Amino acid sequence: MADEPATSGESGPGCGSTQDRRAFLKACVAAGAAPLVAGMVVAQEPAPADGPARYDPREHYYGMGIDVNKCIGCGRCAEACKAENNVPRDPHHFRTWVERYFIQADGETAVDSPNGGIDGFPERADEAGVERTFFVPKLCNHCANPPCVQVCPVGATFTTEDGVVLVDEDYCIGCRYCIQACPYGARFIHPVKRIAQKCTFCYHRVVQGLVPACVEVCPTGARIFGEVHRRSSPLERFRRFNQIQVLKPHLNTDPKVYYANLDGQVR
Ligand code: SF4
Ligand code: SF4
Repeated sequence: MADEPATSGESGPGCGSTQDRRAFLKACVAAGAAPLVAGMVVAQEPAPADGPARYDPREHYYGMGIDVNKCIGCGRCAEACKAENNVPRDPHHFRTWVERYFIQADGETAVDSPNGGIDGFPERADEAGVERTFFVPKLCNHCANPPCVQVCPVGATFTTEDGVVLVDEDYCIGCRYCIQACPYGARFIHPVKRIAQKCTFCYHRVVQGLVPACVEVCPTGARIFGEVHRRSSPLERFRRFNQIQVLKPHLNTDPKVYYANLDGQVR
C-alpha cells in the first residue's frame, strides 16, 4: 500500500540501459530463493529442469489470479510478503495488503485494512445494516501498459521480458513520479533507502521456479500464480473457468492481476 497515492515519460538515458538491466536481472537470478517463513514448496509452474542458470525470460509471461470468494482475510499473504521482501515493519508500507469491504443495504461502501490485514480484521461495532462483507487482496498489477514505467525520468522502473514490472534500486532517485502515476496505490518510498518499492511478484523466487511468497502461504488457494496465455498454466485455467475482472479497466493500464468474484464496488 502506498504511503502516497499516482504520471509518464520516456525512460531516461544511461540509467535504464539494456546492459544495466541485464546485470540487475542476472543478480536477481544469482541471488537465489530467499528463505520463506513457512518453508519452500515447488512452484505451480514447473521449475526449469536444468536449474536457474537456464532461466530464459522470453519463455515466460507472468500474472496472478485472485479468487475473492476464497479469501478469508487471514493476512498471511501480507505477513509472508513482509518477511520475504524485508518490507518495513510498520503499518504504512506494504507490497501486498488485504482490504475488507462493507456493502451497506443503502449501497454505501466502507473499506478498512488495519495493518494491511496482517493481524486479521476485528469485528466492527457498526455492522448492523451491512449487507455483505468480503476481502480483497491487493498488490501491484504488473500492468502491461504501466504508467509508472512511462513516467520514470531515469528508467529505473522497467518491465522485464517475462512481464514483471521492477524497480532498479541502483538507479531510482526517489522522485515519486511513479507513485503519483500508479492509479492503484501500489508503490511507496522506502523510509530508509528513499527509493521506490512495490511488489515484484517475488521475482527472485520466480526465476528459481518458485511461486511468490503470498501465493505459497495462502491457506485457501485464493491467489494463483502462473503464465498468462499458456493453456496448461493454473492461471490460465483460473481465467478460463471464472468470470474475470481487473481493477480500473477504464484506465487502459492492462493489469495482469485478474480477479474472480469481484464486487462492482471494488476500486
Ligand atoms: Fe505500475 Fe501501479 Fe501498474 Fe504496478 S499497479 S505496474 S506500480 S501502474
Ligand atoms: Fe486471503 Fe489467502 Fe491472503 Fe489469507 S493468505 S488473506 S486467504 S489471500
